[in-house]
Order: sequence, then structure tokens, then C-alpha cells
Amino acid sequence: VNAGGSYTAEQRRTIAAALVTGDAACPVCGAELARQTVEPAPGVAYVRKRIWVLCPACRRTASLDVKAE
Ligand SMILES: [Zn+2]
Repeated sequence: VNAGGSYTAEQRRTIAAALVTGDAACPVCGAELARQTVEPAPGVAYVRKRIWVLCPACRRTASLDVKAE
């Protein structure tokens, strides 16, 4: 078991797509992901939102850039 690992690129895309519309589930184990919005650094101009997610069940984490609304 790759506990505490990371997600593949495809899994990250799945999570990012789900986050746009609402809550995301872990693509590995199906648990609901905990998430936290990362505040952009001062002076950063690009229009993106960075969200850090953690699966409480399998302990995988990811930091994802999500297009802002
Ligand atoms: Zn999981």
C-alpha cells in the first residue's frame, strides 16, 4: 500500500474537475477529500486558485491549480 503517497496526473485531473463543481472524492479509495484553499502570495497576478487536498483515509495529498470562476 502506497500510503501517504501522491496522485497520478490523471487522478489529479479528476480531482481538479470535481473541485470546480463541488466536493471531490478520492479517486483511489472514494473517501471525501478534505481541502484547503491556499492563499496566493502577495503580488501574484495570475487568476488561479490553488487548493490543497488531503484524503483522510489513504493519506494522499495534492496541490491543485483550479481555474477561478
Ligand atoms: Zn483516498
